[in-house]
Amino acid sequence: MELFLTELKIVDDSALLIEWNDGLRRRYEFSQLRNACPCAACRHSKSEEPADPMKLPLLSPSEIEPIKITQMVPTGNYAYRITFSDGHNTGLFTFELLRELGKTVE
Ligand SMILES: [Zn+2]
Repeated sequence: MELFLTELKIVDDSALLIEWNDGLRRRYEFSQLRNACPCAACRHSKSEEPADPMKLPLLSPSEIEPIKITQMVPTGNYAYRITFSDGHNTGLFTFELLRELGKTVE
């Protein structure tokens, strides 16, 4: 069966609720989606940044302010491009990835 979204809405000002055409409803916290951003830059910074125990982590403004989704644009029939409140929008969230993220809502 080809999957597509039947409903997309923001809940509690902090999460996305997606309903799929097979009846599955999943809830995605904005911060989870931001951390799961599949773009090359995000994957790179996660996998290759050396852990330096002598250095205190600096928080960027986006980590202090709760992250939000400001825009979601469908790309083709298989993905959404999500723009986050920190200005980041290079991640393409395929339906496949979205099905793996989030948690099922009864
Ligand atoms: Zn990214």
